[in-house]
Amino acid sequence: MKVQSLFQKKQIFSFEVFPPKPDVPIGRIYETLNALKDLHPDFISVTYGAGGSVPGASTAEICAHIQDQLGIPAIAHLPCINETKASVLEKLDTFQKLGIENILALRGDRNPNVEPKHDFSYASDLIGFIAEHGSFDIAAACYPEGHPEASDLDTDIVHLKEKVDAGASHLISQLFYANKDFYVFREKIAAAGIHVPVEAGIMPVTSKKSIERMVSLCGASIPKRLAKLMARYADDPAALKAAGLEYAIEQILELRENGADGIHLYTMNNPDVARYITEAVFE
Ligand code: FAD
Repeated sequence: MKVQSLFQKKQIFSFEVFPPKPDVPIGRIYETLNALKDLHPDFISVTYGAGGSVPGASTAEICAHIQDQLGIPAIAHLPCINETKASVLEKLDTFQKLGIENILALRGDRNPNVEPKHDFSYASDLIGFIAEHGSFDIAAACYPEGHPEASDLDTDIVHLKEKVDAGASHLISQLFYANKDFYVFREKIAAAGIHVPVEAGIMPVTSKKSIERMVSLCGASIPKRLAKLMARYADDPAALKAAGLEYAIEQILELRENGADGIHLYTMNNPDVARYITEAVFE
């Protein structure tokens, strides 16, 4: 099923998982997915490291499992910076054979130690290429606070429009912790002529280390209220996790009330966290 069609029917609630790291038993991802299935997400997206696949279950295999065994639509992430046109065509062929219809087309992060292949410079190049080679539903990433490499949010939105014009039918946002940033972003993109559905990406704070890592990677800002919580519970990991989960639930409830097209929960392959949040949101 093409995920695009779901947005016309309801406010979406979706999950993101990543393929198991080489040191994690491969069965773990299938246990995680089984647990997530019971939460009835509208779709599950599966990441793909820009550096390529690692030994173990691949993004495509996991997507096929989600669709065929769990009966849930799946989106395969596909970063292009280290791909050639030929390697993308191979991947599209694999997706087609496995019945995978949805792709999140990405550039991927630049790795200073890896010389990128030069067939695709930006996600918009990949989106146009996929659109020409098949009938996939293509999603793209967006950044409520601007992509860290962009000179400013307005310039980033100009390039976001290029992704939509190239064929992206819906957008999934980078994580953010101040809903205000998402609302301002939504207004700005509408003014720029972008009218496709936008899902809000939510990553709950579960530990000080994880949030510090994520924030340094993606440049999300920490609002005062969250910074205060983190300071108050700096020496109490359990209390910090509880406060982080409540913060995420409040964020989601408010976004839903304010008409967000969907919520995309970065589960970090933690079904307990996903369950706690989902049950609180839909109770
Ligand atoms: P682009 O849209 O190409 O943008 C990258 C930068 O280039 C931006 O600053 C943009 O403003 C600028 N730009 C775009 N077009 C032009 C142009 N024509 N001229 C000049 N500048 C331009 N990474 C992974 O490796 N694997 C994943 O599975 C993965 N999943 C993700 C899921 C989500 C929801 C999000 C938000 C991000 C994900 N990422 C993933 C991270 C993503 O790959 C990085 O954020 C990457 O740095 C940018 O990817 P993009 O597709 O947004 O790039």
